[in-house]
Amino acid sequence: MATTLMRNTAPREHPGRYYGFIAAVAVCAVTAATAVTATAGAPAGGWLNVPFAFWLTAGLALAAELRPTRWGGLWMSPIASIFVVYVLATMVTWGFLPALVVQSGALVVLGIQISSSVWRGVYNVSQMALALCAAWLVWSAVGGGVWESSVPQLLGIFAAGAAWTVTSSSMVALMMRLRVGGTWSEYAWQWLKSEWALRLTQTAIAPILATAAMTSWWLVAASAIPIFSVYRILQTAAEREREADRDPLTGLLNRKGLQQAVEAKATDAAETGTTATVMVLDLDRFADINSALGHDVGDQVLVELADRFAADKPPGKAIARLGGDEFGFVWSELDGMTDPLECAREIRARLDKPIVIDEVSIEVDGSVGIAVFPKDGEDFHTLFRHADIAMDESKKRAASFTRYAPEFDHHSPERLMLLGDLRRALDEPGAPGVNLYYQPQVCLSTDEVIGAEALLRYHHPVRGMVNPSEIIATAEHSSVMRMLTERVVDIALCRLRSWNEAGYNLRMAVNVSVRDLQSPGFTDFLTERIAAYGVDASKLQLEITESALMADPRRVVDNVQRLADLGLGISLDDFGTGFSSMQHLRRLPVTEIKIDKTFVTTLVDCQDNAAIVFSTIDLGRALDVAVVAEGVEDEKVRKQLEGWGCHAAQGWHFAKPMSADDFDRWLAGHRRGR
Ligand code: C2E
Ligand code: MG
Ligand code: MG
Repeated sequence: MATTLMRNTAPREHPGRYYGFIAAVAVCAVTAATAVTATAGAPAGGWLNVPFAFWLTAGLALAAELRPTRWGGLWMSPIASIFVVYVLATMVTWGFLPALVVQSGALVVLGIQISSSVWRGVYNVSQMALALCAAWLVWSAVGGGVWESSVPQLLGIFAAGAAWTVTSSSMVALMMRLRVGGTWSEYAWQWLKSEWALRLTQTAIAPILATAAMTSWWLVAASAIPIFSVYRILQTAAEREREADRDPLTGLLNRKGLQQAVEAKATDAAETGTTATVMVLDLDRFADINSALGHDVGDQVLVELADRFAADKPPGKAIARLGGDEFGFVWSELDGMTDPLECAREIRARLDKPIVIDEVSIEVDGSVGIAVFPKDGEDFHTLFRHADIAMDESKKRAASFTRYAPEFDHHSPERLMLLGDLRRALDEPGAPGVNLYYQPQVCLSTDEVIGAEALLRYHHPVRGMVNPSEIIATAEHSSVMRMLTERVVDIALCRLRSWNEAGYNLRMAVNVSVRDLQSPGFTDFLTERIAAYGVDASKLQLEITESALMADPRRVVDNVQRLADLGLGISLDDFGTGFSSMQHLRRLPVTEIKIDKTFVTTLVDCQDNAAIVFSTIDLGRALDVAVVAEGVEDEKVRKQLEGWGCHAAQGWHFAKPMSADDFDRWLAGHRRGR
């Protein structure tokens, strides 16, 4: 998509109103200017006899707009135009029409310089023409006339300048209201507040220029020097202001600068119904570079990275160093970004080559977090926080980049509320809310039910059934997880005992979380509970996921070993989806592998998945551990698994997870049917 300047586009919601407004302003401007010209008349003596001083003034006004000063501090208008000085001076010296010609000419030059669209250019010329009409009316009302450097005229020129400023700010405010909404008076007031000092300075210079113009053309030429000094001062002030948004070490934007860039892009994206992407990159082990090679080298690394990011086709329209070893990027669809992940890939690609400083080659690596407007947040703070959370998640997963997802956010208000409600539900012993469903596991060669997996179900009083993965992700980072697991173990063991008592020789598989496996008291708790319910430890199967093993592996491995020593079965859940399945198989006393449903469900249609499932079954055989397939949804898959020698399976083909009573009924039916 080609780069689009916002001021050149019509608002998406009411384009008709926008163009209608511009047309109306243009018609008003032409009418008003014609009426004023009719009364004010052409320059005294005709156009051919205007003195050279006029042409010089006009030329300088146009020249002033060849390099417009971008004034960051001015809200809504980033341009501090100097032509106003020349226009006011022309008006009081040679009359309305010459001033209008100079003003319109300067605005056309400015429009070309800042790439305005024709519509926008027409609007600017028209609204300024109306402002000039207002200035002329005030000037005539106070007795104006041809400039004679009198005190009443001096006051008159200030009054005319004020009329010009108030009218043009009102017109800008009207335009803002049409584009963004909000109240007209608020915009007009904001505009006046930010512009009045500049306009006052310009008005104050106008009488000096007028006096010069009435005397001789060379005084006009000489007065250009102080006028352009004022222009330089403005430029320097604008540069200073821009520096306040920059990181002094790398020259990139700082956090404040990024915030402004993100806010501008988000406003543009909202108006056009497009997206904008905020990315945060955090370098890995940067502290090691600082401590091993010194802070100077660390600084040089950051500067080199900043240069790489800013080099050709930068991976962001605005790039910032956010302090330390963190960088921020924003890029929007309007800038030509179509795929946020592609941007993240581009950022990462710039870290690929090592950085060489004083002949030392330094490898840098980092993780990127991505948040996309408007889905992942609608203001800077939310987008930035979410990009940061996604970046943390990226680090945890050892991934290059990760897009934000609500489940990464353990502290969102919704999560905290859910956690509070869950805690209250668990505080009450035996309260309904938290419960288990059971999904049968079936031996493939005999069709016999060997046991069930216990799956958490939480019925929230307002939200209804909450997805167990969301509950685990929420609880896992708090002490609620321990309470939850204790409840799950209690319910599961109680059910296991009742199956025993009913004469069913079943096993129970229970899922455990990372936090459980890291906790030193967990083994003692299980030992005590197994004894209390009087069940056989070998009938309890613990399902451990690979992500659980990634976190603090040594502690987890010790705990798993102790649990295996108790006689419990250890099942490696979601096998194949983690990073180091093989390594875990070697290190852990695993008795069973559960092939993840993503491979099993599509086994018949996807050759790659079929190969993975087949090899996993083969691996289980070689290592002498049982293999259970989860996610068996149809007979074809069941048959294939049986043919390959898979021991057991679970899935909707047999039964969906069921309440305890439904499970018992289903079990009785299954037995009768065999
Ligand atoms: P999991 O342990 O891999 O559980 C299997 C998930 O697959 C269950 O989702 C189950 O309902 C679903 N499933 C079973 N058969 C089929 C099928 O044929 N097709 C498809 N598409 N899906 C099937 P559920 O119950 O939503 O549980 C999601 C995850 O939540 C579990 O994955 C487990 O990691 C976690 N979880 C559930 N209960 C507990 C618990 O008590 N404690 C802990 N720590 N985690 C739990
Ligand atoms: Mg499981
Ligand atoms: Mg699983």
